[in-house]
Amino acid sequence: MNAPTSVTVRVPAKVNLRLAVGPVRGDGYHGLVNVFHAVSLYDEVTVSPRSDLAPGQAVLSVDGERPDHVARVPLDDSNLAARAAALLARHVPHATGVHIHVHKAIPVAGGMAGGSADAAAALVACDALWEGGTPRERLLELAAELGSDVAFPLIGCTAVGTGRGEQLSPLPVQGTFHWVFALVDGGLSTAKVFAEYDRLRPDAPEPTLDDALVAALAAGDARRLGAALTNDLQPAALALRPELGDLLEAGRAAGALGALVSGSGPTCAFLAESADHARELAAALRASGTCADTVTAHGPVPGATVV
Ligand code: ATP
Repeated sequence: MNAPTSVTVRVPAKVNLRLAVGPVRGDGYHGLVNVFHAVSLYDEVTVSPRSDLAPGQAVLSVDGERPDHVARVPLDDSNLAARAAALLARHVPHATGVHIHVHKAIPVAGGMAGGSADAAAALVACDALWEGGTPRERLLELAAELGSDVAFPLIGCTAVGTGRGEQLSPLPVQGTFHWVFALVDGGLSTAKVFAEYDRLRPDAPEPTLDDALVAALAAGDARRLGAALTNDLQPAALALRPELGDLLEAGRAAGALGALVSGSGPTCAFLAESADHARELAAALRASGTCADTVTAHGPVPGATVV
């Protein structure tokens, strides 16, 4: 069989249903208990070979519907998708140079792990392009080397992450949950949000999983899930961007079953009762003037998939 001329991988965004942040560990990372939930908001990463580049070297291009977000994606070696290609190239025999094209729908620096999703997608796409046949377990290890949030988009669905967030165990979920994500102008630096967290919570306790959240997911009970959503980083994100408090309040007033800052923010996530309710909630949030735009999505959805 001939090697493929290009490979496209579709990869979902995530929302944290629980983000419990412990004290800083000896290695400088925070201990986390993170419940990741993959939602139907996708980036697409397409890789094609470039014979003029060294193996694992990448040139990048990015497009997408939101020019302000596209403009914030780096096109150099710091792009996580380029770093993923370079890392995988060191572990498979027939790596080439690559052109990586990212079609962005996941908000950039929005707390939905868009860069990590692109890195996971690039690992899968390059492995298919180079016919590496890398076992899934090995791809998960390489993903964890790239960043704490890179392994989850490989598996998708819903999973609890411990350690730095990269040690994953899938969680059983019944049914589908409907979400609204409210986008606001500008991003929030994850590092700054963690620094603010350390300032606000110098004596953070060890992070734990919450039985009520696990039970709500297993039962497919949106109301109980809404009540169990928590994000320890939320007070820090609100301290840095106080206007997010008005956005969360607008969602609650419009009937959201749960409202929280997504990851390190500033995107906020709202749980709805149904797809129709999500559309109504989105319209109410836009009308409230507290966000720049909204997107609706459902979860859980599978992880990075070749299309
Ligand atoms: P997380 O939820 O993991 O904290 P995030 O969703 O807040 O991440 P990203 O969209 O991953 O943030 O982007 C964070 C920064 O990473 C961006 O400001 C950008 O400079 C850089 N970056 C590197 N690669 C990418 C990529 N492929 N897509 C988007 N941003 C990238």
